[in-house]
Amino acid sequence: MDLQSVVDDIYADLAPRIGEGKVADYIPQLARVNPAQFGIAITTVGGEVFSAGDAAVPFSIQSISKVFTLTLALGKAGETIWNRVGREPSGSAFNSIVQLEQEQGIPRNPFINAGAIVVTDMVLAGHAPREAIGEILRFVRYLADDETVGIDDAVAASEQATGYRNRALANFMRGFGNLQHPVDHVLGVYFHQCALAMTCRQLSRSGLFLANSGRDAMSGHSVVSNRRARRINALMLTCGHYDGSGDFAYHVGLPGKSGVGGGILAIAPGKASIAVWSPGLNKVGNSALGSAALEMLASRTGWSVFE
Ligand code: GLU
Repeated sequence: MDLQSVVDDIYADLAPRIGEGKVADYIPQLARVNPAQFGIAITTVGGEVFSAGDAAVPFSIQSISKVFTLTLALGKAGETIWNRVGREPSGSAFNSIVQLEQEQGIPRNPFINAGAIVVTDMVLAGHAPREAIGEILRFVRYLADDETVGIDDAVAASEQATGYRNRALANFMRGFGNLQHPVDHVLGVYFHQCALAMTCRQLSRSGLFLANSGRDAMSGHSVVSNRRARRINALMLTCGHYDGSGDFAYHVGLPGKSGVGGGILAIAPGKASIAVWSPGLNKVGNSALGSAALEMLASRTGWSVFE
């Protein structure tokens, strides 16, 4: 299969739609991003990279970072993390507080904001906030095999200044005893992880271990066990797209995680890790063009977890 032609064709087919969707505007710094951008990159388990469009432009990965912090927290605390966060799709918006009250401060899954904030609290254990941010950054640079990956401080500051709902979620959970560190510390780390800036090429490289049974396909290093990689993929499939997770599984059929910066990381187990980015979002907060691109990719390559 000629994957370069596949990504070139997807780019060409979607080019007339570039700019579609609505850029997230509740984080002021994200509202300033030019919507007319679209990139796609595939890193295969054989180590080849194929890309098209704006695949070398860094963007704010936002909630995609939740996959990396979940991986870190599982490494630190193992399966005990499931005492504090669930594994069920929420069927609610990413920043909803409604279920948290009914379910006594235990968030539905690690990929909605409340769940990710609990996971960040776990990564913070034994660290000052600055050290935890450093640990997350080092881990993502290691996965990307690229020391140039950084954090966009303007985006982090913009979220610090306006993150009222995240502050409400965190305080609520602290009230239920499900946060062990001060709310400001946890959110400081959370906002910085969300502000990681990466290109599609870097992001697809970072997800490669999930496509290769937990092992970095290039270096051969084991990042997580095969079983853990499968489980992270299962959570991405069921919970990775906010209230659009079922729709994404139906149309794309691959584990994926999206972010309000317009990026999506998708995993084709045994085949490749794929990153797409276009800032305009659909109604449930997933990249409009990114979702369309992944649906085309899945149908043109035949990649699916349901073969
Ligand atoms: N930093 C964003 C927030 O907490 C992440 C949202 C997202 O990408 O889903 O609101």
